[in-house]
Amino acid sequence: MRTVCIALVVLVSWASPAWPQAKLSVHWEELTAADFRSAIDQSKGTCLLPFGILEKHGAHLPLGTDLLKVRYAALHAAEQEYAVVFPEYYFGQIFEARHEPGTIAYSTHLQLELLQETTDEMARNGCKKVIIVNGHGGNENLLPFFAQTQLEKPHDYVVYVLGIVEPPSGGPPKKTSIDMHAGESETSKMLIARPDLVHMDRAASESGADQARLKLPDNLYTAIWWYARFPNHYSGDGSAATRERGEFEMKDWDAAIVNAIRAVKADQTSLQLQNEFFEKARHPLDTRP
Ligand SMILES: [Zn+2]
Repeated sequence: MRTVCIALVVLVSWASPAWPQAKLSVHWEELTAADFRSAIDQSKGTCLLPFGILEKHGAHLPLGTDLLKVRYAALHAAEQEYAVVFPEYYFGQIFEARHEPGTIAYSTHLQLELLQETTDEMARNGCKKVIIVNGHGGNENLLPFFAQTQLEKPHDYVVYVLGIVEPPSGGPPKKTSIDMHAGESETSKMLIARPDLVHMDRAASESGADQARLKLPDNLYTAIWWYARFPNHYSGDGSAATRERGEFEMKDWDAAIVNAIRAVKADQTSLQLQNEFFEKARHPLDTRP
């Protein structure tokens, strides 16, 4: 009798899955090939590429912090406004942390080529609107440059960049003023994204003070500026972090990504203008005001 019962249970569970999979995953890698087709349709060809790096984050946060937190925000946003989210992408700009353990800094040409081939391949699969969602300050110059280079030759898709989202004023009051890397803000967000990886007991074991070793005018850029100020890859004080602050900032980041997805889905102008531009660029002497 017992065998019959087990056999029946197995039969029933084969006939009707225990949980119907009506809802499409937002994770690219979790979709079947056929569901991927539906996902592109449902997202109106809008895909997110959360963009990070591997770098030291003070004494208390993991190397993957930037991608872990940007993926947390992007995945939650895509759940609210459907978009397909590309798998883990750790291949951004991080030369300034090469002296620290665990940094993976690919050469400049490889960063650009890999990103170009990634967005080209995403577009070939129907992602005609690619939103790169940045999670790392050191990518803030790379990504607009990459987006600008999309005018070099014709593409049948559009690249959008959502840079680092600064939290709005208000919310649970902040205790620190210098807070650029692994400090109060970033640690608070990690308390939401991956609290299991935050070692709060180590947050005060290193100093995140600004060492201010380079005296130059603010509007004069040079590559060593970050190393001059924060050579230990810690800026601020992570021990001031709270879950309340993290919730406030993460909620705002989610909302900014949702807003970007909606705007991109509604945008029919960028591709149209891009096509017009590329056509005109083939014979510039015919261009008249
Ligand atoms: Zn970071």
